[in-house]
Amino acid sequence: MYYKKSFIFDLDETIRVSTNDYWLPKKNFVDKMLKIPEIKQKFHYEKILEIINKISSTRVKGGEIFGMTFDALYFNCQRFPSSLQITYTFLCKEAGIEPNEKLLKKLYAIGMKAFDKKQYKNDFMHGAKETLDFLLEKDCNLILLTKGDKTVQKNKINALNLNKWFEKMYIVEDKDKKTFEELIIDLELETEKTYSVGNSFSSDIKPALEAGIGGIEIPFVTWEFERKEDKKTREIKKEFLKKYNNRYFLINLV
Ligand SMILES: [Mg+2]
Repeated sequence: MYYKKSFIFDLDETIRVSTNDYWLPKKNFVDKMLKIPEIKQKFHYEKILEIINKISSTRVKGGEIFGMTFDALYFNCQRFPSSLQITYTFLCKEAGIEPNEKLLKKLYAIGMKAFDKKQYKNDFMHGAKETLDFLLEKDCNLILLTKGDKTVQKNKINALNLNKWFEKMYIVEDKDKKTFEELIIDLELETEKTYSVGNSFSSDIKPALEAGIGGIEIPFVTWEFERKEDKKTREIKKEFLKKYNNRYFLINLV
């Protein structure tokens, strides 16, 4: 019996580059902060950027940073704009001044610019379209599995016309072993001929291998949350490369 090969693709930093989305709002934010003399006296450009990144990434899974405790927000689209507000309030406290209500509101609007639909159109990763075209030509079954805020991810999917390549598309809050197992059952995928393709070992590869399918990792230097591949992760990765040596492909493009 003949089964088609299936590829489960990740979206951000695999098919499209999303790090740029946050760059302009962040720059705009820091410029605003440096116009406040008391803040400028205490913090420089990179330090402010580092504080935003730490606060925003901590709030993905929740935790403590700079003496503040945060609940997990995952990839809710309010996380980034409200992180700008929290950063501003924190900087004010450190600089001994009161936050300005009007500016707080404005900062939220600046943060929401990261999700402006207009910027999604031409953000394909280099070679992504060609790869998807090639796989379709070979009659492969293409599935999209992305984690993030539903509205935001839907806007990206529409702007990039991803339905041209993907028959099935899923937006989930998190990717774990169960997510892949459910997908295998739902779509009646043949595990031997199915691969998960993505930039993140923890989200796209490890849970996929554990669920019994193959993994194709194409690493990409991304923002703080995915970038901190700590010692423990590196060790697990090594272990997985050995254990799944014919199912786990690590492709370094740089
Ligand atoms: Mg990704």
